[in-house]
Parts: sequence; structure tokens; C-alpha cells
Amino acid sequence: MNFMKKLTVLASMLATSSVVLAQGYPTKPINVVVPFAAGGPTDVVARRLADTMGKIVGQPMIVENKAGAGGTLGTGYVAKANGDGYTLLLMHIGFTTAPSLYRKTQLGYDITKDFEPIGLVVDVPMTVIANNDVPAKNFKEFQAYITANTAKVNLANAGIGSASHLCGMLLMSTLKTDVQTIPYGGTGPALTALRGKQVDFMCDQSTNTMGQINSNTVKAFAVTSSKRMAALPNVPTLDEEGLKGFQLGIWHGLWAPKGTPKPVVEKLVASLQQSLNEAAFKTAMGSLGAVVYTKDEANPAYLAKTVDSNLKLWKPIIDKAAAYAD
Ligand code: ASP
Repeated sequence: MNFMKKLTVLASMLATSSVVLAQGYPTKPINVVVPFAAGGPTDVVARRLADTMGKIVGQPMIVENKAGAGGTLGTGYVAKANGDGYTLLLMHIGFTTAPSLYRKTQLGYDITKDFEPIGLVVDVPMTVIANNDVPAKNFKEFQAYITANTAKVNLANAGIGSASHLCGMLLMSTLKTDVQTIPYGGTGPALTALRGKQVDFMCDQSTNTMGQINSNTVKAFAVTSSKRMAALPNVPTLDEEGLKGFQLGIWHGLWAPKGTPKPVVEKLVASLQQSLNEAAFKTAMGSLGAVVYTKDEANPAYLAKTVDSNLKLWKPIIDKAAAYAD
């Protein structure tokens, strides 16, 4: 075969290889990296999704917890993984706040260059909770208690860049107070510490706290949604409690590493959209206060747009609030 002919054959092989890859894909289990500890709010979402989506793609989807540094370690791991569709990332709003909180060299990845967005998954409100020894019956009393006891009260979070860190930081800066923070590998272990009275309070996603709030093993003072949550009708919003405009929803998304072939991404997008439409998935998420996105948001373009707008939105807010509750 002459040189030109060889080149043509090679080019057509390359062009069809990604199609072939997608046709056969997936031929083995897919790892879904959760960059926080097992048993926490992101883990709960990931395991439900993996279970549902695994059945749709025809291969098990296995959740792998890679906790540390507010979710940035696991995110960095996926940034460097093979773009073959067998390693995915389930992360939340912290994907876009980390670049405002860490130096580029600390992160070691670029959220705008190292990932292929697949789509948004769920949006989860947060709850302001405390252990049962905190002497307050409502948010006003809680606010008075923490501002009068800044030297002894402490606040748990899942590390700098986590949702609990972001919420705690915004809450402290809005209340113009500052308390000691205690970081954990995720709010799963942080909630265990809170119930054990090792920490006093936390702002955490309802996917982790709902069960404890309903069984009165923790106190809930407020929620961060704009309206009261249907699943927690007796808990007021922060806005109702006088923190006007305080609203925080923790959107979660699914990403693949950069370079994942387009047909593979397309297969994942279709499977994600089908999963989010499953009644059992919607019911399970709804009972924990999470709102499931529709296919209008569960797609690469919408997730890319969300990342872009959140990057711009959070930088000035974080710069202003970063002095509080780090
Ligand atoms: N999403 C984290 C977790 O699953 C918690 C957080 O971001 O605050 O533990």
C-alpha cells in the first residue's frame, strides 16, 4: 500500500473508531467518583443515580468515594482520568466555587478545559441544623446564641469549597459573626459528629439531614430554599427569618474527563435523561427534598452554561465573604 493510501485507511479507521467505541459502550462497569465521604448527601444522590442509570446503560455503575480538600481531590482525579467513559464525576456547585477559593496550582485542574459536561442531575436545598444540646428553639434564639458565644460554638463543614462551607461562610458573613470551623471529608461523618455533640451546628443538604430532622435527633432552624420545603413544612426559610434574599440551592452535575468521545457522551446524556425521568428516582429524591432536573437542564450545553454563570456569580461573593467561617 502506498503512503497516501495508508493515510486514507488510517483516517477512516480513526473516524469510525469512536462510533465503534460508542456502539459497544459500555462493555464493563463504569466508575462514578464522588469527591466526598460515603454516606453523605452527594453519595446518596450518586448511589441512587448509579443504580437507576446502570440498569439503563446495561452495566453496573459503581460509586467510588474520593474525599478530601472540599471535593477538589476527587475532582482532580477525574480531570486526569482516561476519557473513555468509564470514569465519571458527580459533583455539585463546589465545582465552580473551588477556583475562587484555591490557587490554580493547588487545584491542578481547570474546570473549563479538563471536563466534558454531561448534564445537571438534582438541585438540593440546605438546612441549618444543630445538635440537641444547643439551647435554642428557633432561628432567632439560635442566632442570638451563636453570636453571643463565638468563642465556644463551632461549625462543621466538608472542607473548603464544599457546599456546607459555602453556606456556612455566607451565613456567618450575613450575620456578621465568625466561629471556629471543623472540616470533615464529607457531611456524612460531620453529621455523625454533630449527633455525638462533638460539633454544634452545620448548614447541610437535605439529602443528608432529612431523616435526622424528622426523627428529632437534630434541631432544624431554617432552610435555604426560597419557599418552605414540601418535605419540611414546619421549618421556616432564612428569608422568613429576616435574612432577606438568602437563597442557596446545591445543583449537582455529571461530568466525564475531557476527550471522552462524542458518541459516548451522547449515550451518557440519553441515559441520564432517561434515569431522571424514572418515577422511582424522582420519588426517592423528592422525599429527601431534592428537585430532579428535566432534560432541558440535564444536557451538556445547559451544564456548561451553569458552570460559566456560576463561576462569574460566586467570585465576588466569595471574595467578600471569605473572611468568615473558613
Ligand atoms: N456534598 C458533600 C458531601 O457529600 C457535603 C458538602 O458539600 O457540604 O459530603
